[in-house]
Amino acid sequence: MTAPTQIAEAFREGKTYDHVFAKSEALFLGWTEAFAPVLADHEVIEVESEFTYPLLNPETEAASRTFVEAGKIDGLLRHKASGRLRLLEHKTTGDGLEPDSDYWPKLAMDSQISGYILGLHHRGFEVNDVLYDVVRKPAHRPSNIPLLDDTGTKIVLDASGQRVRTKDGKKWRESADSALGYVLQTREETPVEYHRRVLGEMRENPAKYFVQKEIPRLDSDLLEYMQDAWAISQQVLYFRKAGLWPRNPSACTAFGTCEFFALCSGRASVDGVRFRPKQKAHSELETVPGELEFLTNSRKSALRKCSRYHFLRYEEPTEPVSEQEEALRIGTIFHALADLWLRTFIKPQS
Ligand code: SF4
Repeated sequence: MTAPTQIAEAFREGKTYDHVFAKSEALFLGWTEAFAPVLADHEVIEVESEFTYPLLNPETEAASRTFVEAGKIDGLLRHKASGRLRLLEHKTTGDGLEPDSDYWPKLAMDSQISGYILGLHHRGFEVNDVLYDVVRKPAHRPSNIPLLDDTGTKIVLDASGQRVRTKDGKKWRESADSALGYVLQTREETPVEYHRRVLGEMRENPAKYFVQKEIPRLDSDLLEYMQDAWAISQQVLYFRKAGLWPRNPSACTAFGTCEFFALCSGRASVDGVRFRPKQKAHSELETVPGELEFLTNSRKSALRKCSRYHFLRYEEPTEPVSEQEEALRIGTIFHALADLWLRTFIKPQS
């Protein structure tokens, strides 16, 4: 198996190593250390495998003529001691992961887990629990580092750019004073320095940043999931038939600002300047849709959030021209690295 640092170095090649990249890489390296004992107890069967299965009407058991369920699991593990199969899901979050955090009760209703377990059942894998692996992103931001002179003394300049001495004139002043216009001279922490600081923080407090929990799924949970999925598919068809995709202003700034805020509030249009048509609605999947549309977990979440959001993501796929926002980029880089590392544990079929 390849060392995580080698995987990170190879992945970094040719890419811009900025602060977001540095933080994502620190998350990955810290996580491999925290996750190693879990891996020692498991075999890795699959990583990032995609599935589709019929969306069923829970009353009649007839398959939808418009949608199929689709998705991609992070991993499938086998517990070595018991032989039990477990779905592996990893997430990055800014939320606290303490035992009394709201993060955990929400998982009882998490539709993604149930949908993925059903996806595995359809592929013939008997899986009834999930190893939910969560990485908390440290809130640390790149800091400003004081510039030092040849003697290791900090540098403070006044409004005219002259270096400032202490009151008695014996030493150089080393602290700022905004009222007097004294400014401490600094430089931005480099991505490499930032990476070391973030990784050091996680290594000192692993329990704060890395938590794994087993989440069971009962048959009743799966049935409820199927009812929810069917109901959402019917809502999509209703909005589509009516040609109406109402906005939900309560959701525009509920979890950070929605990526389509400028569009919906009439300050931009899909003209290639701030927004452009997106080539592929389900860019996370390599499987190409056949005659039936994919109903993924992201798609269901989009409709729950706001029907206009669903329209812009899946009916007339649209994307902002600007760079991916930081949280999304961190999650994408972390998942890509975790995927590469976990693949090195898959035993070749004899
Ligand atoms: S898509 Fe919905 S949530 Fe997003 S900005 Fe428009 S109305 Fe608000």
